[in-house]
Amino acid sequence: MSSFPQRLSLLGGTGSIGGSVAKVLAATPGRFTVEAVAGGRDAQALAQAARALGARFAAIADPSAGRALAEHLSGSGIACGAGPEAVIEAAQRDADIVVSAIVGVAGLAPTVAAFGAGRRIALANKECLVAAGHFFMAEAARRGVELLPMDSEHNAIFQALSAAPARAVEKVTLTASGGPFRLKSREEAARATPADALKHPNWSMGAKITIDSATLMNKGLELIEAHHLFDLPPERLDAVVHPESVVHGLVAYEDGSVVAGLAVPDMCVPIAHCLAYPDRVATDCRRLDLVALGRLTFEAPDEVRFPALALARAAMAQGGRATCVLNAANEVAVAAFLQGRIGFYGITDAVAGTLERVSGGPAPGSVAEALAVDAEARAVTAALLPNFAAKAS
Ligand code: NAD
Ligand code: MG
Repeated sequence: MSSFPQRLSLLGGTGSIGGSVAKVLAATPGRFTVEAVAGGRDAQALAQAARALGARFAAIADPSAGRALAEHLSGSGIACGAGPEAVIEAAQRDADIVVSAIVGVAGLAPTVAAFGAGRRIALANKECLVAAGHFFMAEAARRGVELLPMDSEHNAIFQALSAAPARAVEKVTLTASGGPFRLKSREEAARATPADALKHPNWSMGAKITIDSATLMNKGLELIEAHHLFDLPPERLDAVVHPESVVHGLVAYEDGSVVAGLAVPDMCVPIAHCLAYPDRVATDCRRLDLVALGRLTFEAPDEVRFPALALARAAMAQGGRATCVLNAANEVAVAAFLQGRIGFYGITDAVAGTLERVSGGPAPGSVAEALAVDAEARAVTAALLPNFAAKAS
């Protein structure tokens, strides 16, 4: 891909990643045009994003928000649609690059709908791979898609993997910030409110991934993401806590060399890499200053205070539908925690309870199969939630 401008569609245009993509586009004038932008339910925010990006088409998933979207876009010349089919249309319009940044398994069908020969998919959404990684990777290969990891750890690892042939890889390590409860006792974390858990030390992100970072489920999801993206067995994947979030990922080779990816914790860096690959574009993000940082620290994750990591590892090792169930249960439990319906450890308790009940069975072989497993697991988790009701403090 070398002719400019390149046409880009942005799925999840009103979110945290969507905002960072907009920043990268603003810093690279003339390089990209925006074909389509899609969002969930906030018509005003979506219309604003579509106007700012100069999109040709805007799609909102919530069918009842269609009229408001049309009103907010009136006079702009931007076409629009509402409902899941409109989001699929946004994914399928003629574009060179599709950024997959819808949160949750809701991103699976639109991302797969965006697959096409020679098309680049810049993948921020990790739940696609956790829910249906085998199908997703096989389908991407079959359809001739160029898949680029936008998640910061995986982006760093993708870059580090170019240093040697895949057969020479001994271990791949992802770093985790440790989240807001890294230094809290289990008792303190157990009393955490949604507001406490939403205070991420290093990254500003959407609510769901911020809670996933507090439980460390995010790192568990990311191990599964790496397992599929890089075709690595679970035993070659590791996670370490690194509170500065400067080293994002490391690849250890059989000769003892370790190639790591470093950058300031700003999603504009992996976004710019994915959009410009294999070229580079200049970003205006803060530069890494190691002397100002002084030191970088690392520690082992505490699986007693953060049981999510072991749950995700067990689901990955079990294989089949287990990771799809893990993801669905986690989405339901995180939403319930954010609504104040369950306590902090209710999240991992609900995930564990769901896995115990419905994790056996084959890996989903299609989007429809993944969504069926997802729905079944969601119902089981929802029924378990009353057992983990938040205690009034
Ligand atoms: P967010 O909550 O800020 O944004 C989510 C976006 O998805 C919004 O635009 C929302 O309107 C849209 N959306 C929700 N449901 C939809 C639906 N059914 N159809 C269409 N659009 C829908 O989330 P985020 O933090 O930007 O994260 C997005 C994804 O990227 C997640 O999978 C997350 O794990 C991943 N990710 C995020 C970061 C980050 O720094 N924020 C880093 C790495 C990976
Ligand atoms: Mg990440």
